[in-house]
Amino acid sequence: MAEPLHDIIIIGAGIMGSCTAYHAAKQGLKPLVLEQFVNGHRKGSSHGKSRIIRFAHANEAYVPIMKEAYELWEDLEDLCGEELINKSGLLWLSDAMTTKRNSRILNDYDIEHAVLKGREIQVAYPQIRYNHEWYGLIDSDGGVIYADKCMKATQDEAVKHGAEFRHCEKVKEVKSEPDRVVVITDKGTYYAKNVAVTAGGWLNKILPDFDDIIETQAEQVAVIYWKVKDNFSLYEPSSNCPVIVIEENGDLMYMLPPVDHYRQIKLSLHVSEPIDPDKPLSDLPPWIIQRVQEHINEHFPDIDASKPSTTEICMYTMTEDGHCALGRYPSDPRITIAGGFSGAGFKLAIVVGRMLTDLAKGAEETEVIPELFRFERHRTENLDPY
Ligand SMILES: Cc1cc2nc3c(=O)[nH]c(=O)nc-3n(C[C@H](O)[C@H](O)[C@H](O)COP(=O)(O)OP(=O)(O)OC[C@H]3O[C@@H](n4cnc5c(N)ncnc54)[C@H](O)[C@@H]3O)c2cc1C
Repeated sequence: MAEPLHDIIIIGAGIMGSCTAYHAAKQGLKPLVLEQFVNGHRKGSSHGKSRIIRFAHANEAYVPIMKEAYELWEDLEDLCGEELINKSGLLWLSDAMTTKRNSRILNDYDIEHAVLKGREIQVAYPQIRYNHEWYGLIDSDGGVIYADKCMKATQDEAVKHGAEFRHCEKVKEVKSEPDRVVVITDKGTYYAKNVAVTAGGWLNKILPDFDDIIETQAEQVAVIYWKVKDNFSLYEPSSNCPVIVIEENGDLMYMLPPVDHYRQIKLSLHVSEPIDPDKPLSDLPPWIIQRVQEHINEHFPDIDASKPSTTEICMYTMTEDGHCALGRYPSDPRITIAGGFSGAGFKLAIVVGRMLTDLAKGAEETEVIPELFRFERHRTENLDPY
């Protein structure tokens, strides 16, 4: 009997692979998704309960993508009957210049927002203390996106429309033949018209020469939680406790209200170090804890900074310029790639899945992928995606 020829094989069932399976299945392709680990594993980038979602970005190319992302996440909320996003607001704390730039970008796209200065910040958000040197931009649509619920909803909807997920099956090789792409795993060999590689930090292990096109690097990152010791009600989701991005002297910190752990906020520093994703992660460096402790002591009076209540080491995948890499593999355009999301890709995944599906259905790369994310992009503007 002839081997089945799959419409699309997706390598990796993180949020990018799951969203690609969701769109591909809804559009009548029958995706086969191959994932090396168990469902819900914590070795990649997409596990846990919460991520930040926001319109506000330093680079305006993200704003139209986020418009589509909000619409697509809301469509998915309707389908699964679950709240996937809590728009409790994003507060971006920084200096006057940065705030002005971010506000101008949101103005250009008619996105609701406000700017606060010094004590006005504390009046709006009594949980925190920032003095006259600080500016705050409030992105009213920002907030928490529930990562675990999004993973489940995209996978459930994909399966409902005919996708098949095979967990604990590791892809060893992808080979091009004239009339098909061959995917060899530790359990068998599969054939497909199209292959989408959404393998996170393992991208270069599957396509080793991809590094010559765009360098992507798996990096480990610390996630730190701290106990709320007072004024608990100000941190409840119902109190509209914002998510916060803090830029100070070149450091970038972020805070999410207690979603992952009871009465513990997530407050950490956006720094990472290169790793091999197949090797064990190393311990959390004490200097990171210290840096965050100092910030909490100065600005978060209700938080116990004496020691972290929970710590985790996770992985994300960086590109040189901090923007993700999307497109067709130059050696074989039937293979598409979505990688290098640089610690800020979760909220975009529902659009990335739509883009990879359009490519699998034959769309031109230039119609589908914004220039900033294409492999051949110009790198003159080196703005952090935050
Ligand atoms: C600490 C942290 C905080 C973050 N904060 C935010 C945030 O606030 N907002 C935001 O939008 N984003 C955020 N991100 C980024 C976001 O979570 C990632 O961009 C996103 O999860 C990347 O998804 P992915 O599917 O590309 O990768 P992954 O989730 O790593 O999925 C890749 C999958 O491919 C599988 N795989 C790899 N190789 C193979 C193989 N050979 N065979 C089979 N399967 C394979 C892996 O096992 C893995 O499951 C954060 C990330 C981290 C780690």
